[in-house]
Amino acid sequence: MPDYFLITGGYVYDPANGIDGQVKDLWISGGKIVEPPADPTVRPARTLNAAGLVIMPGGIDMHCHIAGPKVNAARKMRPEEKRKGEVIRRTAVMHSGTMGSVPSTFATGYKYIGLGYTTAFDAAVPPLAARHTHEEFEDTPCIDKGFYVLMGNNHYVLRAAKEGDYERLANFTGWLLGAAKAYACKLVNPGGVEVWKQQASGNVHGIDEIVEHFDVTPRQVIQAVARTADSLKLPHSVHIHANNLGMPGNWATTLATMQALEGHRGHMTHIQFHSYGGGEADENTFNSKVGPLADYVNSHSNLTVDVGQVLFGKTTSMTGDGPLGYYLANVYKSKWFSADTEMEAGCGIAPIEYKNKSLVHSLQWAIGLEWYLLVNDPWRVVMSTDHPNGGSFLAYPQIIRLLMDRSYREEILKEVHPAVRERSRLADLTRTYTLNEIAIITRAGPARILGLKHKGHLGPGADADITIYTPHENKETMFSLPRYVIKSGRILVEDGDIREEHDGKLLHVAPGYDPSAEEHIAQWFEDCYSIRFRNYPVGDAYSHGAEKVACE
Ligand SMILES: [Zn+2]
Repeated sequence: MPDYFLITGGYVYDPANGIDGQVKDLWISGGKIVEPPADPTVRPARTLNAAGLVIMPGGIDMHCHIAGPKVNAARKMRPEEKRKGEVIRRTAVMHSGTMGSVPSTFATGYKYIGLGYTTAFDAAVPPLAARHTHEEFEDTPCIDKGFYVLMGNNHYVLRAAKEGDYERLANFTGWLLGAAKAYACKLVNPGGVEVWKQQASGNVHGIDEIVEHFDVTPRQVIQAVARTADSLKLPHSVHIHANNLGMPGNWATTLATMQALEGHRGHMTHIQFHSYGGGEADENTFNSKVGPLADYVNSHSNLTVDVGQVLFGKTTSMTGDGPLGYYLANVYKSKWFSADTEMEAGCGIAPIEYKNKSLVHSLQWAIGLEWYLLVNDPWRVVMSTDHPNGGSFLAYPQIIRLLMDRSYREEILKEVHPAVRERSRLADLTRTYTLNEIAIITRAGPARILGLKHKGHLGPGADADITIYTPHENKETMFSLPRYVIKSGRILVEDGDIREEHDGKLLHVAPGYDPSAEEHIAQWFEDCYSIRFRNYPVGDAYSHGAEKVACE
């Protein structure tokens, strides 16, 4: 007889199973949601009375920066934030930690679970640093996690894309994802980071510019990796940080990137940063181009986006887009960190501040909100701040209020730069989100986009990752402090207090590939890398609670 845990009486929002606020019992056993026992005399070992409360699957952050060398460098770079920030104190079940815009590892896990998020993916890890990332994940408690590997400037990928050798690229990608124990393929400014590494202030400015030395274009890289993700049947599509992030007029590059996918699946990340009209180096022409881009997304079902919402305040930008880090450090006259990873990637970090008196920042804020309101199908737009780039993940409740409460949105709109009213459609958008739609863009949608069949819903077989909220008219209040957060069937959080520590799983893929391809890859390592081929793959000892997600 299994030990049952019953949650009874709550209003359940489970959009993947068509449940929109109905009162429904949830039976849990072995960390999973199960069918109610057939025998009506069976009593649960434990019952949680959730009458009057709102129940959703645990939140899923599909794009954030929480582990790996870049995140760790940002922590060390900003001691001033740590000194002034909230202190996470050690308790019987918690380690101590520090906050600021880049929380320490343990604090990251505690803050996510405290917010009702039970899964998060770091979006940009150079595979050469995968081992470091797994070690930080081990110290990021309470949530399940995974990461995407940077591939858009990897020399092996650039060569295979140039030659159009898709078979070689598929074998390499299968090997690479398995060797790093990663979840998906990430492109960051494909080709542009390589030019940055070759030339002072170098970059590419469009998807058909030639990447010197490799004689390949960003378009070729985008198409090759998108095809590869599909041919390997990866649960998640290629994850694209397009070229020209943050530049006025970049919407044309974004549109060209989406068109270049030619029907292959593609996820356009932090799309807010890629939706700008206007002329180069002229702030006065800066405007929103969400309209035409959202129209394109609405009419092309192969595409999904996450927003990368900007919120006003201080934060830290961190990116695999080396030239972007340099650009931002010049704009803000701030500290700057830049690093190259041999053969694979780049990185830039700079402290930044978004001000509501700034035209550009106010427009960025409005452009993010336009994306939520102009994509018709909530299953294809995901909530993100590109934590910590647009703001902290701790701002998600504020974004929820902006989406659900039009008068609040109007109020904030009055406080931002007045030109936003002319240069964005935000003031005219009357749409408000329902609780069901919030459940889609924060859990059910990202689960589906990531191909996580056992997450983002509350049907039998799902992981028992559940967040229970006290309804409140102010949705920011409601979503800031869940009443209970349940992870793998255990109540980890009650009224904001962590009751129990929990390790969480590593979610990764291990696609099949032709093992004879390893000979070519091994020779590549002998010729080019400072590390030996046999030392590169991450051993099983580094991945704790690993769960392999099938490629099918
Ligand atoms: Zn990012």
